[in-house]
Amino acid sequence: MDCIFCKIAAGEIPSNKVYEDELVLAFYDIEPKAPVHVLIIPKTHLAGARDVTADNSAVVAHVFEVIPAVAAKLGVTDYRIVTNNGADAGQTVDHLHFHLLGGRVLGEMG
Ligand code: 5GP
Ligand code: ZN
Repeated sequence: MDCIFCKIAAGEIPSNKVYEDELVLAFYDIEPKAPVHVLIIPKTHLAGARDVTADNSAVVAHVFEVIPAVAAKLGVTDYRIVTNNGADAGQTVDHLHFHLLGGRVLGEMG
């Protein structure tokens, strides 16, 4: 499958990694929207939140389990986790990913 985040997960495209285990990878966003902007992805391909089911949701739970450690490594205590699902919501890469944004006062959700 021609998926840029699958390629990043496989190491075929380089990324600036923050955290990695057998299930998930966290790496810096190439175009940061905040002083701290990291993406956390399952290594398995899910197109977005729309693909999460009872059969694969353990990896989503795992993403949230590692978030505190990723945030601690980045030195932020206050942060926002965002996932965009679908083009109208701003999703540009169709591989489930969670933005971790912080390092400044983030303001209200738009
Ligand atoms: P979305 O718009 O789908 O919610 O988020 C996709 C994010 O992936 C964007 O913030 C974009 O900057 C980031 N991104 C796209 N391509 C790459 C890439 O090749 N490497 C990295 N590190 N980030 C990427
Ligand atoms: Zn993928």
